[in-house]
Amino acid sequence: MFNYDYNYSYNYTNLLDNLKQSGTIQSQQVYNAMKSVDRADFISNNPYMDSPQSISFNATISAPHMHCHALEYLKDFLTPGSHALDVGFGSGYLTVAMSKMMNDSGTVVGIEHIPQLYEKGKKNISKNHQNLLDEKKIILVCGDGRKGYKDCAPYKAIHVGAAAPEIPKELIEQLDKGGRMFIPVGTYDQNIYVVDKDMKGNISKKSVMGVRYVPLTDKEKQLRGY
Ligand code: SAH
Repeated sequence: MFNYDYNYSYNYTNLLDNLKQSGTIQSQQVYNAMKSVDRADFISNNPYMDSPQSISFNATISAPHMHCHALEYLKDFLTPGSHALDVGFGSGYLTVAMSKMMNDSGTVVGIEHIPQLYEKGKKNISKNHQNLLDEKKIILVCGDGRKGYKDCAPYKAIHVGAAAPEIPKELIEQLDKGGRMFIPVGTYDQNIYVVDKDMKGNISKKSVMGVRYVPLTDKEKQLRGY
């Protein structure tokens, strides 16, 4: 039966079942990946509520439904053995979920520019997924994600967790042929763009939904509240 107390799902399975019932989770692959990463490792207050929450430093952990949308759009590109990039990894939740989508057999690079969030995200991941860090299935970098991370490029899947005024050209360059990027774009009016690069290197972009993300910006601007 549908649980109308949607935001206050009492446990993680219940939250995920509601997301499945509402059609946000469409595939077993996304359901399984989300289920294997306990949101309580990444946020201590109301981890099973379907809403974004502060992780300090003017940043938020995205709502579970946004994590689901990202994984659904990227699912065919998070294939075993491939490379993926998570820009602005914040809490670290989605970085692990992306690795789980690849059955822990790919490489996910997470970039975060606030050193304290980088450390906190790493600690969150280590609680139950230290093996992924040890085996370099997850590589964490502290730096400006607008420049991507050349050392592990090209990436079959790129997730951007903060809204860019425009799509950074370095990220388009580092997207693999046949790859896909999921990126919020805009300042006040924001939309998720799904950016595909075909096998010839041609780019196509599609706006798929309106959203509200924190900005992809300079460290200094973020720390003083934008
Ligand atoms: N996917 C993350 C989203 C965190 S909020 C989660 O659900 O937990 C967005 C994150 O992007 C913040 O942690 C913020 O510090 C980071 N960020 C913003 N601009 C950035 C930049 N230029 N380079 C790297 N990270 C950035």
